[in-house]
Amino acid sequence: LAATGVDDKTEVREYFNTEGFNRWNKIYSDSDEVNSVQLDIRTGHDQTIQKILNWVQDDGDISGKSVCDCGCGVGSLAIPLAQMGAKISASDISDSMANEAARRAKEMGLEAKFYTSDLESVSGKYDTVTCVDVAIHYPTDKMAEMVGHLCSLAEDRVIISFAPKTWYYSFLKKVGELFPGPSKTTRAYLHEEEVVRNALKKAGFEVAREEMTGTNFYFSRLLEAKRV
Ligand code: SAM
Repeated sequence: LAATGVDDKTEVREYFNTEGFNRWNKIYSDSDEVNSVQLDIRTGHDQTIQKILNWVQDDGDISGKSVCDCGCGVGSLAIPLAQMGAKISASDISDSMANEAARRAKEMGLEAKFYTSDLESVSGKYDTVTCVDVAIHYPTDKMAEMVGHLCSLAEDRVIISFAPKTWYYSFLKKVGELFPGPSKTTRAYLHEEEVVRNALKKAGFEVAREEMTGTNFYFSRLLEAKRV
């Protein structure tokens, strides 16, 4: 529990249902109501998504394969995967996010399931489980468990991204905290790559491909792990 008595999850849910939704829905769109920092984050995030889509494309046909996207946001990854024919089951802890994703998919005439759920409550078995830029909301001590849960849902592979805890990014985060800017945000957690890799290994997964995306204000380490 934080000093406020509000736990991380409750805070994250509230944020992404209100101010966070407005902020991120703009970043994750082509709206021009974004400032230069938000534009930089949009660019970085687009690159992460494109790298995943390239992997999927390189593998051949994903049509008919099931994909579970945890913390799907407005569907930035799930929607293009649905367009490629994947069977999408995507969820987000925020109602506003999940509803917006469903709205966007419907508008494009796509069939995909979007629903509101905390990552820990997602169940079932899927060929691929994805979790992009969600781990930043997970405290360090919850990270390994979260990775374990994603693996338990995955028949074949897990694709996960997180902000890596290196001295440089820890330093940037500190600087950012000194200048918090006007908008309310949530706590952000960087993660040691070793912790993520060990959790994948423990669950019987092996890292197959990796990427790193960094712009001025966005950084994301991307791992694809396959069941051994
Ligand atoms: N994955 C999406 C993407 O890359 O476009 C959204 C990334 S956004 C930075 C983080 C998302 O994670 C938010 O939509 C937030 O509501 C969701 N989230 C945070 N904690 C979560 C949890 N415990 N379970 C499910 N979703 C969560």
